[in-house]
Parts: sequence; structure tokens; C-alpha cells
Amino acid sequence: SDSRVIMDESAIRRALTRIAHEMVEKNKGIQNCVLIGIRTRGVYLAQRVAERIYDIEGQPIPVGELDITRYRDDRPSATRANAAGPGEELKRLVTDKRIILVDDVLYTGRTIRAALDALMDCGRPQSIQLAVLVDRGHRELPIRPDYIGKNVPTSRQEKIDVSLSEVDETDCVTIMHP
Ligand code: 5GP
Ligand code: MG
Repeated sequence: SDSRVIMDESAIRRALTRIAHEMVEKNKGIQNCVLIGIRTRGVYLAQRVAERIYDIEGQPIPVGELDITRYRDDRPSATRANAAGPGEELKRLVTDKRIILVDDVLYTGRTIRAALDALMDCGRPQSIQLAVLVDRGHRELPIRPDYIGKNVPTSRQEKIDVSLSEVDETDCVTIMHP
């Protein structure tokens, strides 16, 4: 097996800066916007984008987090029904807001579908957008990101490794060939 770096620290930094600008432009500011990171690495990416938006707009943007493990459609529905509902904090963040979901890698789209379910359980957002650091293709659902750090065509056997300094010491994105 071999691996190749496709984004180094600078490339990640520039991509997140561009995405922050795109978010501000698309939403004509950040009024009513909330970033929701998908655990684990989506949360760190959301926090980084929030810092850049603050630099651009001089306004703080709320950041929430979502753990969608229990919403996956490969779990039995009884487990999902019995699971504790979404937190009060998330409910307060979602209603009538422009939600921007943030994740590290987009693949089949099933995680995002589950995240949409979880958000709908929380209240009625005004709208939902999606930002991902890497889109590796192979969608199985009609889900398309609004903000993309890098499009990386992959085979199903390949894997993307996303390292972020908050949890992995370094910042880099690698493609791993089996
Ligand atoms: P999906 O649900 O779209 O099939 O997969 C996306 C979710 O699985 C994301 O939360 C992402 O973190 C993880 N994922 C899927 N493929 C990869 C990959 O190649 N590399 C990494 N790091 N995560 C992946
Ligand atoms: Mg993930």
C-alpha cells in the first residue's frame, strides 16, 4: 500500500479561508447562520471556519456539533427511537436558522442524510447548506455540497486520511491506495 499527500497545511488553510469567504458571500453576511460540525473532525473544521468568518465579518458565528452515530440507517430503528433526543442546546441553535453542516469527507452521503434527520428532529431550520473539506465521490443519495475544499476522485478501495492538528498533531490530507 502507498499514500500520497493531496493537501498540506497551507492547502488546508487556504481552502478553509476560501470557504469562509464563500459562506459570507452566499449568505450575504452571516446573519442567522450557524455552523454545525459533524463529530469528530467536522467540529474542528467548523471551529476553524468560524475563526476566519470572525476575521472577515467581525461577528461571531455560533458553532454546534452533531454526533450522528445513532441516526445511521444501518442501525435498527428501535435503537434510534430509544436513543435520547437531540440536546436542548442544538434545538436552540437550529430553529429558523441557516444551518451550515461541516464534515471532513463526503462519500456516499449517508452520514449527511442522517445529519439532516437529526436536525429535523431539533426543530425547523430556515435552510441547510453543506461544507466538506474533501469530496471523494461515489454518492448514493442526491446530496451535493455547497462548499468544497477539494474534489478528489477516488476508487472505492482508496481511503482519504484527514489529519488535523487538534487531534492528530499535523494538518494534512492523504490518499491511501490499498
Ligand atoms: P458517507 O456517509 O458519505 O458514506 O461517508 C462520510 C462519513 O464517513 C464522514 O463523516 C467521513 O468522516 C467518513 N468517511 C467516509 N469516507 C472516508 C474517507 O475516505 N476518509 C475519511 N477520513 N473519512 C471518511
Ligand atoms: Mg466522520
